[in-house]
Amino acid sequence: MKNLVVVGGGYGGMRILARFLPSQLPEDVTITLIDRNPYHCLKTEYYALAAGTISDQHVRVAFPEHPRLKITYGDVTGFDLEKKKVLMKDAEAINYDDLIIGLGCEDNYHGVPGAQENTYSIQSIEKSRETYQTLNNLAPGSIVSIVGAGLSGVELASELNESRPDLRIKLFDRGNHILSAFPVRLSTYVENWFDSHGVEIVSNSNITKVEPNTLYNHEESIYSDVIVWTAGIQPSKIVREMDVEKDRQGRVVLTPHHNIPGNEHVYVIGDCASLPHAPSAQLAEGQAEQVVQILLKRWNNEELPESLPTIKLKGILGSLGKKHGFGMVAERPLTGRVARLLKSGILWMYKYHNG
Ligand SMILES: Cc1cc2nc3c(=O)[nH]c(=O)nc-3n(C[C@H](O)[C@H](O)[C@H](O)COP(=O)(O)OP(=O)(O)OC[C@H]3O[C@@H](n4cnc5c(N)ncnc54)[C@H](O)[C@@H]3O)c2cc1C
Repeated sequence: MKNLVVVGGGYGGMRILARFLPSQLPEDVTITLIDRNPYHCLKTEYYALAAGTISDQHVRVAFPEHPRLKITYGDVTGFDLEKKKVLMKDAEAINYDDLIIGLGCEDNYHGVPGAQENTYSIQSIEKSRETYQTLNNLAPGSIVSIVGAGLSGVELASELNESRPDLRIKLFDRGNHILSAFPVRLSTYVENWFDSHGVEIVSNSNITKVEPNTLYNHEESIYSDVIVWTAGIQPSKIVREMDVEKDRQGRVVLTPHHNIPGNEHVYVIGDCASLPHAPSAQLAEGQAEQVVQILLKRWNNEELPESLPTIKLKGILGSLGKKHGFGMVAERPLTGRVARLLKSGILWMYKYHNG
C-alpha cells in the first residue's frame, strides 16, 4: 500500500480529499490527513467569528470518513524529505510515499517593532477566538484599531461595527484608497459605507511601531484599547524554514506539475505555494484539483502534459456586515445586497458539498 500524506485539512487539503474520496482513490493507496484541529475550519469566516456575529460551530466542517482515510491530529514541526517523513511535535514521525503540504499562512508583521506582541489576529481559529473574546469584552466607547484594509480588515471592521456599534473603529491603510487590489469604484463604495456607519478610515498611514495599547502612525501615537493586525500574510513558518527554493513572499517555487523541483513526491498547495495569483481559498482548491490529476497519472505511469491549464478563478466577494457586500464577479464589479446574497449562497453551497 502507498501512503499519500496530506498535511493540513484547509481549503486545499479538503479539495484533495473530496476528489479522491469516495471512489477515485486507487485500491493500493491510503491517505493520511494530518491537522492540529479536529475539523476543517472555514477561515474565510474568521472575521465574523472574531466580531461575534457567528458561533464557533458555524466555522467548523467535519472531515470526511472513509475506510482508507486515516486522520492524525497533532502539530507538524517539519519534514525530512530525504527519509520521506513528516515530523510531529511529541509524536512519532509519519512516513509518506507522496506528500501534499497545505499548511496555510500566518500574519506578516513586515518587521514592525512590537506588532507581533501587541496586536490581535484573525489568521488562525485559536487566534480568532482570542480576538473574539477581547473585542466582545470591551467597554462601550472603546477604541479598536484595525491595521490593514484589504479584504479581511474591511470585513472585520464592518462586521464589528454591526456587532458592536458602540465601539470606535479606526481602519488604517497604506494607500490613498482602501482595498488596493480592487477597482477604485469598489473602494469608493466601501469607503462611503464606512463613512455612513461611523468607521474612521486613516489613509496613507505607515505603522512604524506598536506598543501595548498604542500604535504609531508615522510619528503620531494613537491610543487603542485593542489593535488587530490584518496587514499582510506569509506562508506557515514550517514551510518558510524548508530548505527549498522560495519566492519573495517565502512561498515554495514549484514545477508546472506543482511538485518541488527534483522531487516528484512532494507537492505544495494553497497559501504556501508560489502561484501566479494572490493566495485565496479558490486558488488552493483549483490547484488541489490539478494535483489530484497529476497524482492519478503518475500512479498509473501515464505521461504528464508539459503544462497545465491556468487555474480559473471566478472572482472574489467581500461582506460589509450581513446585508451589504462588494466584489468582482466575472471581472465585473458588484456591490450591495446582491453581492452579499451571493457570498452567503457560496458559503452555503460549500458547507452543503462538504457534508
Ligand atoms: C478573514 C479572511 C477572509 C478571507 N476571505 C476569502 C474569500 O472570501 N475568498 C477566498 O478565496 N479566500 C479568502 N481568504 C483566504 C483563504 O482563507 C486562504 O487563502 C485559504 O484558507 C488557503 O487555503 P489553504 O488550504 O492553503 O490553507 P488553510 O485553509 O489555512 O488550511 C491550513 C490547514 O493547516 C492546518 N495547520 C497549520 N499549521 C499546522 C501545523 N503546524 N500542524 C498541523 N496542522 C496545521 C490548519 O489547522 C488548517 O487546517 C480569507 C482569509 C481570511 C483570513
